[in-house]
Amino acid sequence: MSAPVMTVSGLKTSFRRKGIWLPVVRDVSFDIHAGETLALVGESGSGKSVTAMSIMRLYSPETCRIEGSVTLEGQELTTLPERKMRDVRGDRIAMIFQEPMTSLNPSLTIGDQISEVLVAHRGLSLKEAMKETRGLLEKVRIPSAAKRLEEYPHQMSGGMRQRIMIAMALACRPRLLIADEPTTALDVTIQAQILELIKLLQEEEGMAVLFITHDMGVVAEIADRTLVMYKGEAIERGETGQIFAQPQRGYTKALLSAVP
Ligand code: ADP
Ligand code: MG
Repeated sequence: MSAPVMTVSGLKTSFRRKGIWLPVVRDVSFDIHAGETLALVGESGSGKSVTAMSIMRLYSPETCRIEGSVTLEGQELTTLPERKMRDVRGDRIAMIFQEPMTSLNPSLTIGDQISEVLVAHRGLSLKEAMKETRGLLEKVRIPSAAKRLEEYPHQMSGGMRQRIMIAMALACRPRLLIADEPTTALDVTIQAQILELIKLLQEEEGMAVLFITHDMGVVAEIADRTLVMYKGEAIERGETGQIFAQPQRGYTKALLSAVP
């Protein structure tokens, strides 16, 4: 097998509260290969988002301490200067969240905001960027793409907005996509369409996906391998099929019993 796109080992994240460092995530280790989806699953508050945010180094070092190692294509990220980390976030790792509205600019049309990303990160001319933007909307299966380019985020449904976010994520051609509960706020049918889209795009683009969810039903749909988190720690891991067939931990069994 090829070298992993990302390796996380012994990740520990602590936040400072009233002068004391309190660990919130401990002993989290995993790797992800190109074309593979790893699910990070656990109940609300188990440390999934903190793990993702720590990988991306999105917390202020004054209030958050990160220990352990995170490598992207062999390059250590935890010690990278912030200026270089900004390029990593823009170009090599993309992240999508539960509520796309928080990451979309309400006062720019869809066409303008995706083009802006392409100009900033890929150095395209505005004309080239507009053309590519249209291609990206088609790639994420947005009907009547040309018309959609002129629309603002609030004119779209939640499912359409999540497709736009995926198009923006793909604009940078990332090696790794981190998806933090991207379907949680969506209706079940739309949720299934978005999962289908992520799977399809992953096959086309060959990127690695770290998929965060609290829902084992979603895990069954999307993940090759699964890491179960409980109270900030990784307590069980394996091939998704194996975890469903033979869960080792009581907590994993309880998560599975919630699947209809
Ligand atoms: P989830 O698995 O639901 O994504 P989180 O990773 O968001 O859980 O949170 C894990 C724990 O870390 C929770 O107890 C939460 O209160 C705490 N936490 C999250 N963000 C911060 C922060 N910025 N400062 C201090 N504690 C935090
Ligand atoms: Mg979360």
